[in-house]
Amino acid sequence: MEIHFWGVRGSIATPLSNAELNAKIESVLKLGIKQGLTDPSQIAEFVDNLPEHIRYTAGGDSSCVQVKCGDKLLILDAGSGIRPLGNSIKQQYGQKPIEIHILLSHTHWDHICGFPFFEPAYNPNAKVLIYGVHSGLRERLEIQQLYDYFPVPFGAMKSNIEFIQLKERTSFNIGDVVIDTLPLVHPGGSHSYRITHNGKTVVFATDSEFKELPHEPALKRAHFSDRIESVVDFFKSADLLIFDAQYTFLESVIRENWGHSNVFLGIDLALEARVKKIAFTHHEPTYSDEKLWGIFQKAEDYLEIHPTKTDLQLVLAYEGLEIVL
Ligand SMILES: [Zn+2]
Ligand SMILES: [Zn+2]
Repeated sequence: MEIHFWGVRGSIATPLSNAELNAKIESVLKLGIKQGLTDPSQIAEFVDNLPEHIRYTAGGDSSCVQVKCGDKLLILDAGSGIRPLGNSIKQQYGQKPIEIHILLSHTHWDHICGFPFFEPAYNPNAKVLIYGVHSGLRERLEIQQLYDYFPVPFGAMKSNIEFIQLKERTSFNIGDVVIDTLPLVHPGGSHSYRITHNGKTVVFATDSEFKELPHEPALKRAHFSDRIESVVDFFKSADLLIFDAQYTFLESVIRENWGHSNVFLGIDLALEARVKKIAFTHHEPTYSDEKLWGIFQKAEDYLEIHPTKTDLQLVLAYEGLEIVL
């Protein structure tokens, strides 16, 4: 199973600003002076060793993750990240026949706004199957392409687009890929997907808060509400959990009911469910790379002192990140 992150920003697409870019350039130059760089042959190693928040950017595109399971191509969410993904598919396939399965967590803008720019949807030889638990999926996508909002109507997309209405807490197959769903706590509802293929499992759980968790670091099963029990069961033994960690801990308290979570709850849940790797995503649009990697450092510190620590691996999702399971 190959996972590729195309959009990891939450709420709204957020390009890197000139101020942030200039700050990165200044930091690089200061470090270069400090380390006494004098020869171009030193540059490659110097760049390799730059702090991650300077060397990388989390990226600005909103929610979209590609999951390849053998010959099946699955896409989780159609946020603005689906635009570059579509371009990459077009480059590879051109107008050739292709079948694409898009699983929508929900239809907030940051999860569907890229679909009108998804090139394969205009390929008459492509079949695009769109799955979701929310009712009226077709209408929801058609509305965002009404003439008042977008110049190209949904009907102008010449691929064979089919909608598959899923029931809540359902299980279904795409070929030999098994997919389960679980409702999450989010304004308007969001749904998690658990995808299993060839003995490997990835869980996509974005746009959710987990309010029933007890406020203690070492979670004990006895303290779990039924709801959290079902979340832990759904995440159970996943090879990769892609988890909404939009807020700092303080913000997730202040912004109760806004429908997002934080790295610490993600770690608690992942440890309880014996998850192998957790990737934090749906980054807050106002956070710089420095802040995001700062939060990630706190997450690593938290795991280090956690009383039920396992060999759980933590990952900060960024655009272009690929994980092979
Ligand atoms: Zn969102
Ligand atoms: Zn949402």
